[in-house]
Amino acid sequence: MSAGDGTLEVREHVSLARHTTFGAGGPARWYAEPATLSQLEEALHWAAERSVVVVPLGLGSNLLAHDDGVDALVLRLGGALAAVIVEGSLLVAGGGAANAVCLHHARRAGLGGFEFACAIPGTAGGGVRMNAGAYGSDWASVMERALVVDAGGAAWRTPAGLDLTYRHSGLAPGQVVAVVEYRLTQRPPAEIRAHVAELNARRKASQPTNRRTFGSVFKNPPGELGAGRLIELCGLQGHRSGGAVISPRHANFIENEGGALAADAVALMVEARRRARDQFGVMLEHEVVLLGGLELPAVE
Ligand SMILES: Cc1cc2nc3c(=O)[nH]c(=O)nc-3n(C[C@H](O)[C@H](O)[C@H](O)COP(=O)(O)OP(=O)(O)OC[C@H]3O[C@@H](n4cnc5c(N)ncnc54)[C@H](O)[C@@H]3O)c2cc1C
Repeated sequence: MSAGDGTLEVREHVSLARHTTFGAGGPARWYAEPATLSQLEEALHWAAERSVVVVPLGLGSNLLAHDDGVDALVLRLGGALAAVIVEGSLLVAGGGAANAVCLHHARRAGLGGFEFACAIPGTAGGGVRMNAGAYGSDWASVMERALVVDAGGAAWRTPAGLDLTYRHSGLAPGQVVAVVEYRLTQRPPAEIRAHVAELNARRKASQPTNRRTFGSVFKNPPGELGAGRLIELCGLQGHRSGGAVISPRHANFIENEGGALAADAVALMVEARRRARDQFGVMLEHEVVLLGGLELPAVE
């Protein structure tokens, strides 16, 4: 099926397991890969005319989709909407550009400040939506502005305008980040390379970097104990459901050991929340985005 003038192909029943780092979840009812701003607008109009929900997809690195699928038009940005250019101290990235590609361009241009994202396996747009961060920095601290598009049009928004706070943005459902501008600072490429190597080594030592996961399961609650430490103290590391296991390496990760369903991950999340509430009086809030009507039942 094609939308608008026929340049954009809208496919049906596309597996989301293949588009998420955890590797689980049913198909997207509709799926398209707009490569230009006008194709993105075409896709948004196509969905609006049919009252179809729009879900932007990055690299699926913080997503868990329902095993029965997602009744929406899932949009994965490509082409010009995943390109990266450098203009002075600005790095301009399409919303679908991978962080690794942005970091490569920044390093080549001698621009520092984005090193923290070396271990965040997502895209520029996904980073805005999650206000992703690590090592004391996040999108809010390096982003100058983002071009946000929905069926009503396009507008540039600043971090303050997007209400970027800890793993939160005020982006409304269906709004798509098409372009992100990062304001970076001069730094010799060799220094950037060394810093990234050091951060990657730290990451490898503490997290299951070579397993299929969806990143942090829960946000860190206020207080001294992070979500991972709480789950660890509940004795849940190595706890399994189907093909999913709470990572023995870092308890705020769930690994797909092979054949895991989204329902397996949800079962582990429910158990972790119940135990953290019972043992520490803490109600954990999930960081991973749940799609297709997946939800965590209230803790009894
Ligand atoms: C091994 C591993 C390590 C990780 N480490 C970190 C870390 O240190 N810090 C951290 O913050 N996160 C971390 N994550 C989680 C994840 O990488 C980030 O949240 C990342 O920003 C998600 O980007 P994505 O493009 O993959 O988004 P997706 O997972 O595809 O989507 C996440 C959300 O963003 C929305 N979205 C995606 N693209 C767009 C767009 N263009 N416009 C609007 N909305 C969009 C989706 O609709 C969804 O709501 C890690 C994940 C893994 C697997």
